[in-house]
Amino acid sequence: MSADAGYYSGLTYKFIEEENIDVYLPESRFEKETKRGRLVYDRSNFRYNNQKDEYICAEGKKLNFAFNGIRNGVKYKTYKARECKNCIRKSECITKPTAKNRQILIYENDEFKKKMREKLSTEEGKRKYSLRLKTVEPVFAQIKYIMGFNRFLLRGLDKARVEFSLVCTAYNIKKIANYIKPATI
Ligand code: SF4
Repeated sequence: MSADAGYYSGLTYKFIEEENIDVYLPESRFEKETKRGRLVYDRSNFRYNNQKDEYICAEGKKLNFAFNGIRNGVKYKTYKARECKNCIRKSECITKPTAKNRQILIYENDEFKKKMREKLSTEEGKRKYSLRLKTVEPVFAQIKYIMGFNRFLLRGLDKARVEFSLVCTAYNIKKIANYIKPATI
């Protein structure tokens, strides 16, 4: 299965991992970083010291555990630095203009994110993920922009399902008609 980053959420990754489904689904951050080039000081540049439960940045400064949190059903731990004031890397490392010190959020599913990034970076991963560009995406584009179906006329899930089934049926008939056309001419 593959889907674009719009379908990403921490909970989705959690579900995929728990159910052991073979999915090609980037997180939004991965897509941004791939397009713009990797961030110089993303989380992977901080080394973890598990004996002290702290991270060490590229400048050798400590980021201590600050608090636990939960976002969209996924738990995370926040680590904060205290000595960023005079750091020569500050402008590259801290992107938030109002922040005085760097902090990093470590999510419980970060390891799974890492594996997904690795999987999407392989040749096979790139090939499988890009397949959706020529299979699923054109269908949405044709239905929305050529057939003009850009909003539902009916309300309620059941009615919308019926309406969309009719749209899909029309689309499939169109496809079949295009496919058999050369043979009948
Ligand atoms: S800004 Fe802070 S966390 Fe970032 S490299 Fe400098 S000292 Fe380390």
